Amino acid sequence: NCFDLKTMTYSSPRQSIHLPTDPNLSLTSFLFQSTSSLADTIAIADAHTGDSLTFRQLKIEVYALSQSLLRIGIRQGDIILLFAPNSIRFSVCFLAIAAIGAIVTTCSPLYTVSELSKQIQDSKPKLVVTVSELFDKIEELNIDLPFILLNDSLNKFGSRFLNYDDLIGDFYYSSDEIPANSVVSQSDVAVILYSSGTTGRSKGVMLTHRNFIATAVAGVADQDRYGEGKNVFLCFVPMYHVMGLAVITYTQLRRGNTVVTMARFDLEKTLAAMEKFRVTYLYVAPPVMVEMIKRRDILSGYDLSSLKQLAGGAAPLGKDVMQECAKILPQVEIIQGYGMTEACGLISFENPKERDGNFISGSTGTLVPSIESRIVSLETLNPLPPNQTGEIWLRGPTMMKGYFNNPEATKDTINDEGWMITGDLGYFDEKGQLFVVDRIKELIKCNGYQVAPAELEDLLKSHPEISDAGVIPSPDAKAGEVPVAYVVRSPNSSITEVDIQKFVAKQVAPYKRLRRVNFVDKIPKLPTGKILRKDLVTLDRQITSKL
Ligand code: AMP
Repeated sequence: NCFDLKTMTYSSPRQSIHLPTDPNLSLTSFLFQSTSSLADTIAIADAHTGDSLTFRQLKIEVYALSQSLLRIGIRQGDIILLFAPNSIRFSVCFLAIAAIGAIVTTCSPLYTVSELSKQIQDSKPKLVVTVSELFDKIEELNIDLPFILLNDSLNKFGSRFLNYDDLIGDFYYSSDEIPANSVVSQSDVAVILYSSGTTGRSKGVMLTHRNFIATAVAGVADQDRYGEGKNVFLCFVPMYHVMGLAVITYTQLRRGNTVVTMARFDLEKTLAAMEKFRVTYLYVAPPVMVEMIKRRDILSGYDLSSLKQLAGGAAPLGKDVMQECAKILPQVEIIQGYGMTEACGLISFENPKERDGNFISGSTGTLVPSIESRIVSLETLNPLPPNQTGEIWLRGPTMMKGYFNNPEATKDTINDEGWMITGDLGYFDEKGQLFVVDRIKELIKCNGYQVAPAELEDLLKSHPEISDAGVIPSPDAKAGEVPVAYVVRSPNSSITEVDIQKFVAKQVAPYKRLRRVNFVDKIPKLPTGKILRKDLVTLDRQITSKL
């Protein structure tokens, strides 16, 4: 039974897990503890180039880079920004930085210079790791920081740029070990990923080595339970996001699975890679499933017989989309997972082997081992029994340490009893299946990417011809949700929708661009100044129903 009436707490029906007890253990050491018997098998491969590393080579590269980072003066607790698309080297950097107790932070390669610069001001990295394609943005940043270039062996960008090949080469084969002077505790922060949480602007989510270790152990519960052999995961989900970094790359490498990296999603290239690498598991955001359904005809041109499971998550996934996927990929298990940056990855996922036949219920499955949950009434704040909807609260070893340099936001998100408040609404049924039904936090999810309304509102209000603004999600068949703005013009202004869209587009990543702008006389607000987003959403539904 997953529900304890005494404590009004839900737990996982999956077998409990055992986490390492040694307080001094980095996520990197933990990964390589399990892979020595697999030394000569492929750990990670690049779908585009076909390059690959065995577990032995991965370990050598990781520790060679760790030594080089120490030599150039990186120390425990220093922050390093990874500003690059998915690649083998991205993963090597992540593991090498963590091995010496330095901290990885990431951001989207789609970020504009102003978004990048804001994040750099917040996280204050000592070093930036990037690729030559992003060089223009780096140039414009005009900051005095050292850079590592992952992909330019000629180093035509000058001495400010350290070269990955040189850094690895200097210590290759000398260092198949953890650098001696680093003692990393499981409780140390390993990674800072950015998320807007339940309200406001993007904040640094501090994830510890322990969080990653627990994610890796819990996330493979079903694969282990059914005695699955080595699996092959394709990863085009961005590694700057918790799903690409923790759920796929770290967790699957730790299990000894192979991770095939892809810099960005493209359906034909995905199908070709699935055929070539005999991919068994595919974790995606819902829009990828929608595209597969829309372009189903091309699927028959590829041998996808290796695929065992297609899992959708990172944003709401409709039952209908899952059912359609089941039709076009009849031999594949189609499942849903629910995850969150602040929970270092997965919170719940379906076990298709425990389904009633092939029935797709739309649930996000049962809790990951070691996570506990409460469903809390919004009215009374009392915890609720099965089949009643309330806010989802979570507790367990994968929950973040807090928001970076932001005790206020941390206090608002993690309560005194250690419960993390998700800002999502849902309920459990009596079998422990979690249904996520709505989101009460401000977050917009466009193509699975985070868009923080507060950030777009700040930007809009910085325009001299805009006196107030509110940004809300609008449903979209392809992207899931898109950001839409309600704007109050300054007196005498005749600024247009297109002017505003262009103004925003210049300053934000493409997925944050405003799909529509509507003009109003007033933004509905509480006396405290808080925007009544529900009222804006209702207004928007009325407007769009007339379109
Ligand atoms: P992120 O931190 O970017 O992974 O975003 C986490 C948020 O995405 C969650 O708090 C949910 O609001 C949403 N989300 C993730 N997976 C699902 C799902 N399967 N169904 C509904 N919402 C989801």
